[in-house]
Amino acid sequence: MAGKDDPTLRSDTRLVTSGRSGAFAEAVVNPPVWRASTHLYASCADLRERKADNRDGQFFYGRRGAPTQWALSEALTALEPGAAGTVLYPSGLAALSAALLAVLRSGDVLLVADNAYDPTRSVATGLLKGFGIEHRFFDPLDLEAYEAAFCDRTRAVMLEVPGSLTMEVCDIPALARIAREKGAVSLVDNTWATALGFPALERGCDIAITALTKHVGGHSDVMMGAASAGERWYRRLRLGAQQLGHVVSPDDAALVLRGLRTMSVRLERETASALAIAGWLAEREEVAHVLSPLLPGTPGHALWQRDFNGGCGLFSFVLRGGDDAARCRLVDRLDLFGIGYSWGGFESLALPFDVEPVRSRMAWPKAGWGVEDRHAIRLSIGLEDKDDLIADLERGFAAFNEG
Ligand SMILES: *Cc1c(COP(=O)(O)O)cnc(C)c1O
Repeated sequence: MAGKDDPTLRSDTRLVTSGRSGAFAEAVVNPPVWRASTHLYASCADLRERKADNRDGQFFYGRRGAPTQWALSEALTALEPGAAGTVLYPSGLAALSAALLAVLRSGDVLLVADNAYDPTRSVATGLLKGFGIEHRFFDPLDLEAYEAAFCDRTRAVMLEVPGSLTMEVCDIPALARIAREKGAVSLVDNTWATALGFPALERGCDIAITALTKHVGGHSDVMMGAASAGERWYRRLRLGAQQLGHVVSPDDAALVLRGLRTMSVRLERETASALAIAGWLAEREEVAHVLSPLLPGTPGHALWQRDFNGGCGLFSFVLRGGDDAARCRLVDRLDLFGIGYSWGGFESLALPFDVEPVRSRMAWPKAGWGVEDRHAIRLSIGLEDKDDLIADLERGFAAFNEG
C-alpha cells in the first residue's frame, strides 16, 4: 500500500497529504498554531548540543520556526520535484531579495529578465547596486542576446515566467541550461503557475521563488514568500535567511497551509474562466491584443503547452485606441472586479498599467501594434461565475465607449 509520503503520488494528492508528518499528525489534520519564541531545553548539555546541530525540524529558538512553519515548508518542498527544502519569507519580495543576496557577492554581475516584476528590477538597480553587484537587463525572448550578455563575472540570472504584466513565455529550459553552462545560478519567479503548474527545478532552474501571497494563500489576507531549491542552494538560502533574521508567524503559516490545500481546484477553475474571458475579449472591437499564453494563437502558447502543467486566472489585454480616461472609465465601472494590487485571491481584480516605465530592453508597443495601442489592463480572474464577470466587463466597455 502506498504511504502518504510516497513520492510517486500525483501532485493533487500530495497537496492534501504533504506537510503532515509532525508530532501532531496522528491527532489532528492541521498543525496547531505553535506561537513560541522561547523553546525550552532539558539541560545545559541539551542546549549546547542543539545549538551546534542546525538541522531542519529542531526546536532551538523562534527564529528558526516551529512545527507550524515547518509543516508549510515541508508541504511546499513535497510539491516541488527536485527540492531539498523550502525557506519561508515574510513576503514574496523578501524571498526574491533574500535569495539574490544569498547567491550574489560584491563584484558579481546579475542578469535580469526585462519583463521581471518591477520591484525585482528595483532590487537589482537599488539594493544590489549599493553592494557593488552589477546588473544587466536582457530580453528573455532573444536567446542570442542573452547568451552574449554573460561575462566572466556573471554569477546569477533572474527569470520570471510568464513576464510580469505582459505575459510573454520564455524558454526556461534553454535559458536555465545556458546559465548552467556559463557557471551561473538561475533563479525563477514562479508565482504565476506555482510548482503545480510549472515544476521549475525539474525544468532546469536552481532556485524557485513563489509569492505565497498570491495563489497559495489564495484569500487575499496574508503575505508570505518561499524559495525552494536542491541541496546546495537550499543550504545557502537557509543560512542567508537565518543571518537576515527572516521568520514568518505561525498564524500566517497556518493560513497559507490552509490555502494550499485547495489551490489546485482554485487554479483549475480560474484557468477555465480566464480562458473563456480571454476568448471573449479577443473578439471585441475595443481590444487590440489579449496577452495570455492560455489562448491558442497567442505568442507563448506553444511554449506554455510544452513546459507547463496548468495556468491561472491572471492575464492582460491592450485596448484598441482610446485614452487613459477611457480606460479608467472602463475599470471604474466594474462592480465585480476590485481595483487593487496583488492577485490570485478568490475574488477578481482589475489593474490599469503602463509598461514603458518598467522595460528597458523589450520594445513596447511591439512591432506591428498600432501606436495608439498602449493602454493595458491586467485582470485576475477569481472564482465568481464567468458569465457574471463577462457581463461586468460588458458594462465596462459601454463606459469605455461613452467618451
Ligand atoms: C506579488 C508578486 C511578488 C511579490 O510578492 P509580495 O508577497 O507581494 O511581496 C513577486 N513576484 C510576482 C510575480 C508577484 O506578482
